[in-house]
Amino acid sequence: MPDYKAPLRDIKFVMSELLDSEQHYASLEGAEDATPDMVDAIIGEGAKFCEQVLSPLNQVGDQEGCTWSEDGVKTPTGFKEAYQQYVEGGWPSMAADVEYGGQGLPNSVNLVMSEMVGTANWAWGMYPGLSHGAINTLESHGTEEQKQTYLTKLISGEWTGTMCLTEAHCGSDLGTLRSKAEPNSDGSYSITGTKIFISAGDHDMAENIVHIVLARLPDAPKGTKGISLFIVPKYLPGEDGSAGEKNAVSCGSIEHKMGIHGNATCVMNFDGAKGWLIGPENKGLNCMFTFMNVARLGTAIQGLSHAELGFQGSLDYARERLAMRALSGPKNPEGSADPIIVHPDVRRMLLTQKSIAEGARALIYMAAQQSDILHQGKTEEERQAADDMMGFLTPIAKAFLTEMGHESANLGVQVFGGHGYISEWGMEQNVRDARIGMIYEGTTGIQALDLLGRKVLMTQGESLKGFTKLVHVFCKENADNEQMKEFIEPLQALNKEWGEITMTIGKNAMKNRDEVGAASFDYLMYSGYAVFAYLWARMAKVALDKMAEGTEEEAFYNAKVETARFYFKRLLPRSRGHVAMLEAGADSLMALPEDQFAF
Ligand SMILES: Cc1cc2nc3c(=O)[nH]c(=O)nc-3n(C[C@H](O)[C@H](O)[C@H](O)COP(=O)(O)OP(=O)(O)OC[C@H]3O[C@@H](n4cnc5c(N)ncnc54)[C@H](O)[C@@H]3O)c2cc1C
Repeated sequence: MPDYKAPLRDIKFVMSELLDSEQHYASLEGAEDATPDMVDAIIGEGAKFCEQVLSPLNQVGDQEGCTWSEDGVKTPTGFKEAYQQYVEGGWPSMAADVEYGGQGLPNSVNLVMSEMVGTANWAWGMYPGLSHGAINTLESHGTEEQKQTYLTKLISGEWTGTMCLTEAHCGSDLGTLRSKAEPNSDGSYSITGTKIFISAGDHDMAENIVHIVLARLPDAPKGTKGISLFIVPKYLPGEDGSAGEKNAVSCGSIEHKMGIHGNATCVMNFDGAKGWLIGPENKGLNCMFTFMNVARLGTAIQGLSHAELGFQGSLDYARERLAMRALSGPKNPEGSADPIIVHPDVRRMLLTQKSIAEGARALIYMAAQQSDILHQGKTEEERQAADDMMGFLTPIAKAFLTEMGHESANLGVQVFGGHGYISEWGMEQNVRDARIGMIYEGTTGIQALDLLGRKVLMTQGESLKGFTKLVHVFCKENADNEQMKEFIEPLQALNKEWGEITMTIGKNAMKNRDEVGAASFDYLMYSGYAVFAYLWARMAKVALDKMAEGTEEEAFYNAKVETARFYFKRLLPRSRGHVAMLEAGADSLMALPEDQFAF
């Protein structure tokens, strides 16, 4: 496994130079503490923790995995101690509400830490990561008593959280879930049912676990309109607020799975466990949607993390591994062969990884700023615009980035050749760990339907227009900039085409609803490439301007421009394939009768 090195220079480039974080934080309500020096210091400290504590545990977690016994789940060597250090460092409380013990920093600062934690050790990062879902739920929908009892402990990190949605027969389609909640005379509920695939469902890292559970009340309407949300602690809080008597919830077993071995994926049995309603009856799914965008952004980071780790490992290896001579003549005449980084095909792989990782960072940080505005924007109008923008960007970030992150991790194996396929170097672990990103928090297929159906077509294209307007303004501002021509011309064409293909799909869908599902995956991927094109063009602009002004970091900025060129010439053309496929319509997918598939 490569030693993780936090890419602090690129983090700073995206935050400060591309997205002007200083001005952004100054424009938020209650973000006075997020001064540039403070943010730099936090990120610097976080980087050390991730590099020195979490990264060395990444391979340990994979090899040891978690172990189940009647007494509970044991996490791999070092995980618990690392979590203690994380809590002592105050990391869980960084972006949480000050009233409940949080530090009140903007969410975007927290997401930079999540990127570094996730790249250093994704499986470990899921334990505190899942707590964020529980924290968001309680912050938005908990009663004051629930906040005092649970939120404070989750924010301090003494307790961790889970999200218990999935059941054996349903994951994407939660409308069919069966877990039951019977009211008790004391205002609590008895929760009964089995949840599967629950990340961090049980472990030995914290003294209590707070499960956020979806279940049905008696006589609840069928489908998604009859689902309520409950809080079910592993240990019931005692009079003094500490973890007391054991509740009737237990981990029946843990899954043996492809990757993220260090994270316990649990079957959770609720046998009349005591729980309390969060939010209104039968509005459980609505409550969850209020923070879903932020949670999904958390999963989008997984794409960035595996792309970055794959790239870091590949780059070191490609500089050292010797194989054959460059086609254009020896580049390392003293050595027995040239390092493989001289070969165009290896450069193709490295630049693909680099442009994915850096593009992903730009996309996530941009979306993270929108999430800051959503929570701390000064006007209702600003907050609404940020909500709309996040609604549009989130399915793209979640699905496109996890798909691309997996591709990048896979290229890591390829750059290492046979050594990539064996365990020692960690590249195969990176692929296995990355694979789940395309499945949980809404599969790529479900995100694609959400983007095209709910976000774009159901708003008559308004959410798309919100984004294409940004692109349009940027293209107009740079229309006369000769150096930017190579980026602006294709970007402008893409922006126009985006609206046109959306209209075509919309028209086709009026005749046949299957046209939406048939186009959705390619539409999502096309949108991802288009968003990346916008961000890469903007990054090229920042870098070109810096070089024109004169800089001591010429090499850094030149690398940005060259990577942007690579992106436009070698990755963006994939959008042509997606247009051709989505224009092919539903017929070629739906014509084959089901009983003829097997022939
Ligand atoms: C390691 C791991 C950790 C997890 N952690 C958690 C957790 O912490 N909490 C939790 O509640 N769950 C968790 N899950 C569950 C996860 O969220 C679900 O597996 C996921 O949502 C997919 O649901 P499913 O497995 O039921 O697949 P299904 O919903 O059966 O989907 C199967 C396939 O059909 C496709 N599909 C389904 N419906 C449609 C449609 N309408 N249009 C197009 N395609 C469709 C899907 O895209 C997918 O390709 C975890 C799963 C794993 C493996």
